[in-house]
Amino acid sequence: MLIRNVEIEGDSGLDVRTDGERIAAIGSNLEAPDGTAIVQGLGGALLPGLHDHHLHLYALAAARRSVRCGPPEVRDEAGLTRALRAAAAGRADSEDWVRGVGYHESVAGDLDAARLDALLPGTPVRIQHRSGAMWILNSAGLEKLDLGGRLPAGVEQAPDGSPNGRFVRLDDWMRARIGTTEPPDLSEVGAALARFGVTGVTDATPTNDSATLSRLSRAVETGALRQQVRVMGSDALPVPAHARVTRGALKLVLSEFDLPAFDALQRSIENAHAAGREVAIHCVTRTELVLALGAFAAAGSLSGDRIEHASIAPPELAGQIAALDLAVVTQPNFIRERGDAYASEVDTIDRPWLYRCQGLIEAGVALGGGTDAPFGDPDPWLAMQAALERRTPSGIRLGEKEALSPERALALFTTPASAPGGLPRRIAVGQAADLCVLDRPWAQARDSLSSEHVALTCLAGEVTWPGNDRRPERPD
Ligand SMILES: [Zn+2]
Repeated sequence: MLIRNVEIEGDSGLDVRTDGERIAAIGSNLEAPDGTAIVQGLGGALLPGLHDHHLHLYALAAARRSVRCGPPEVRDEAGLTRALRAAAAGRADSEDWVRGVGYHESVAGDLDAARLDALLPGTPVRIQHRSGAMWILNSAGLEKLDLGGRLPAGVEQAPDGSPNGRFVRLDDWMRARIGTTEPPDLSEVGAALARFGVTGVTDATPTNDSATLSRLSRAVETGALRQQVRVMGSDALPVPAHARVTRGALKLVLSEFDLPAFDALQRSIENAHAAGREVAIHCVTRTELVLALGAFAAAGSLSGDRIEHASIAPPELAGQIAALDLAVVTQPNFIRERGDAYASEVDTIDRPWLYRCQGLIEAGVALGGGTDAPFGDPDPWLAMQAALERRTPSGIRLGEKEALSPERALALFTTPASAPGGLPRRIAVGQAADLCVLDRPWAQARDSLSSEHVALTCLAGEVTWPGNDRRPERPD
């Protein structure tokens, strides 16, 4: 393939020829050997394909078929009722679940089965909390689950001892009960991400295991998924055989209300390192970050170790993150999506340290970006924009000092999969032809970062998103 007339790192009028999966030549007026597909770059910036360093592919595919139950789509109880009833009416079979996602207490307070029954009786409903940590079922939903026998911790109970409809951190257990047979197809997700210029993702789901790995490998092989995938997951995750699927960190999730013993956490890190595997720890509170950093300090850190989110990172902890050489994978998009709730719910003392960017970089922390889709919007350009503007939905600026330049915001998503806070990938001969062409030069694109400007996306030298009129022309 030959891409004519693109701008690379500020130099305009360049052509780029790929040979198989790699960039073979860069220059002015390159020859096109017979049979080469030619794509017109029309002077747009050529960037490395974006890599989303933290998302959840199957949850994203499932969320696309679910009803939104939280802001910005749904803001109050009346809106929630309307959304649930519309979803119930749209089902093919009256036995089918209504599956909701993105619930937040700002909509209608703490929900349980009794309150859901009042909104939509008779139809089995399950709604996932925005944090991803809880499901809420109504009575028809509870009946559909086979709840005999001993219930695991995490099933909340009403005063009479029966389940009240709230299930905390029981995803796998719920899935087994609900009997969801086939995981959703990833082709829509793959296409949507390609449209954003995304050529690689890191799936950060802690329960990923060998079965997930073979499903993902098949999705990449069949072209359903048009991205490279780095797969984090449990300690039972084998090394993948597929070239475009790599094994990432052991993912450990800390929860402030149920913290592991320090020794146990330290041992988990040591065991992973002994097996040559890096570790990623989910930390969204100050306490969780303190514990994770203590455990890394005791176990030692390995290149590739990372903190997911680091939602609250005060200066003394940022210094420790840098000293331990850990990368942070942040989600500036949460400021844009959830900033108003943060502004009212997060302790005043923690607020300046929310989803920091510039301050972490200045402290010497290697910083990469991920959207955490489906818990955040999967469009990385919205995350970049949020990193620049730091505006909440109502327009308040949160942590202005943490704002990044457009170039640094872009770099959150152009670093290699194995080093989210490392040096951005570059367009150079010999590099993988994982590319993203914009519809305008960077000097213009930087003033209005948007996925609307993505004109063409290539993975390993093949077009995965043909923008409007950029379809490859065959010379014959
Ligand atoms: Zn996540």
